[in-house]
Amino acid sequence: MPKVIHDRNKCVHCGICTSVSPDLFEDNGKITLKNAEYKDGIGSVEVEDDTSAKSAADACPVLAIEVK
Ligand code: SF4
Repeated sequence: MPKVIHDRNKCVHCGICTSVSPDLFEDNGKITLKNAEYKDGIGSVEVEDDTSAKSAADACPVLAIEVK
């Protein structure tokens, strides 16, 4: 399954991903990839459909979201 990776070390908290992909990202004081465990500022989660993740990755101004 495709993997979505969010790097908080790069994230500038602009909130675009929470608008583009609210199914994946939420703002709870920090921008958070839902259901991801974060280690050293990096969280990842596997998704069945990567359409939303790719939209978020394309929209992120600092390339803090990656889809593999
Ligand atoms: S779009 Fe990128 S920089 Fe903006 S909040 Fe999301 S991950 Fe952070």
